[in-house]
Amino acid sequence: MSHSGKTTLENYVGGVLSAPGSREYLDNFNPATGEVYSQIPDSDEGDVQRAVEAAKNAFPVWSNTSPEDRFTILMRLVELIERDLEELALAESIDNGKPVSLARNADIPRAIANFRFYATAAMHTANESHDTVGQNAINYTLRQPIGVVGCISPWNLPLYLFTWKIAPAIAAGCTVVAKPSEVTPMTAYMLSKLCIEAGLPAGVLNIVHGTGPKVGSAIIAHPEVKAISFTGGTKTGEEIARTAAPMFKKLSLELGGKNPNIIFADCNYEEMLATTVRSSFSNQGEICLCGSRIFVERPLYEKFKSDLVARAAALKVGDPLEAKTDVGAIVSKQHFDKIMSYIELARQEGGTILCGGHALDLTTETQRSVESKAETRPVGGVSSDRKLGGWYIEPTIIEGLSPDCRTNQEEIFGPVVTIMPFDTEEEVLDQANGVRYGLSATVWTENLSRAHRFAAKLESGIVWINCWLLRDLRTPFGGVKDSGLGREGGFEALRFFTEEKNICIRI
Ligand code: NAD
Repeated sequence: MSHSGKTTLENYVGGVLSAPGSREYLDNFNPATGEVYSQIPDSDEGDVQRAVEAAKNAFPVWSNTSPEDRFTILMRLVELIERDLEELALAESIDNGKPVSLARNADIPRAIANFRFYATAAMHTANESHDTVGQNAINYTLRQPIGVVGCISPWNLPLYLFTWKIAPAIAAGCTVVAKPSEVTPMTAYMLSKLCIEAGLPAGVLNIVHGTGPKVGSAIIAHPEVKAISFTGGTKTGEEIARTAAPMFKKLSLELGGKNPNIIFADCNYEEMLATTVRSSFSNQGEICLCGSRIFVERPLYEKFKSDLVARAAALKVGDPLEAKTDVGAIVSKQHFDKIMSYIELARQEGGTILCGGHALDLTTETQRSVESKAETRPVGGVSSDRKLGGWYIEPTIIEGLSPDCRTNQEEIFGPVVTIMPFDTEEEVLDQANGVRYGLSATVWTENLSRAHRFAAKLESGIVWINCWLLRDLRTPFGGVKDSGLGREGGFEALRFFTEEKNICIRI
């Protein structure tokens, strides 16, 4: 569908694609070029109401659909995403600014894995029974799908995180009203078309596009939405909790982070260095799990510093569609300004910028190597002579800051890391834990006892020892402190979307 000559996205409500009630649209930018390339529905409460009704109507049948049938439909979706992997990866890259290679090798495969994982999980759930010996009774527990649920996701890993919520909700037998980030809505829109093609019954998944204050808050506030699975910023999470808690909604909140990367001198150096480059700058540092505070044991500090700076300086920042690009564009002008303001703050706080620290003007570089098919694709916005007028920031490494300054306390969410030397385990543990956040932590050491000791003491939902972002979808995923509430992943997520009921029978 076309609106003002640009691709125009539609909501997916009650099994069909439709315009928002208001007929109003928002601009969607291509971060690589800085240009508007599509229009997205500026939906409102009325659209959310229609989506909730559709989800409510679909619930009785879907919640009684056998796990085998749910499996079959979700696996059809898996096949279709696999079929369209290239197209989805290209769309994700254009929408978000991430290197297309990353979208192709990480984002879209993970969306596939999410659906596959929960399609099969649906067939392997089991509930407890308790033999109440001595009282001639038996108890058993039912876990029934909770009803209509809301899923709201951010822009950094668009399809990856959107499906991470939707897949378990649908697999558990719930029906869903979902909202992707208005900054990166394209692959969710493409997914809605695949849902239709896969034969997902009408109303099981409804996708309403638009802003947080209008669409997101209407989903949260709707009394028929029984549970909310949200990933995004801590401030938004607080707002959501304020609305949802008095209504006693179930909440899963995956929020911000300021993750420590703790490097001991006895680590496997080469592996640590290569992984630290990734954990600092992958996806432009826009991953909630990136290690943004790097603590290095003093004997290793100078060597590490010069090696990390050399590696970071060698990263190619550029066109997300170029195969050789390591670091693409920052997702939006607003986020670009935020990151740049933190680099300025770090300077004011007395930090020394060891490398990077600047925005990059790539307007003189034109797009060269877009696959020829891309121009005819529905995602639009790609032409062979486009100018890279978007938002680029050099990978930035800062030293000389105290652990409690704002640069080291607040989430920047960009290609910016600080490095700090430490002398003792006690000192670095205090510093690592000395933030309001507690999402993930990485520890590099060959000392097994120390690794276990640290893992137990770190205030963090996830600890990686001698690795980073190594994921097993069966494991609990989530944060402590201001990084959130609840755990996603494994059976935990299926349980989140169900309500437990205990039944006690006198024999
Ligand atoms: P955000 O909180 O601004 O937005 C996230 C989503 O919430 C978007 O869809 C947005 O439209 C919606 N939203 C905004 N205001 C709302 C409201 N009042 N009510 C309901 N919905 C609302 O976050 P963002 O900028 O899109 O994403 C970046 C943040 O997400 C970072 O803080 C990052 O750490 C966090 N994040 C966390 C995880 C995790 O697993 N813990 C993963 C990825 C990103």
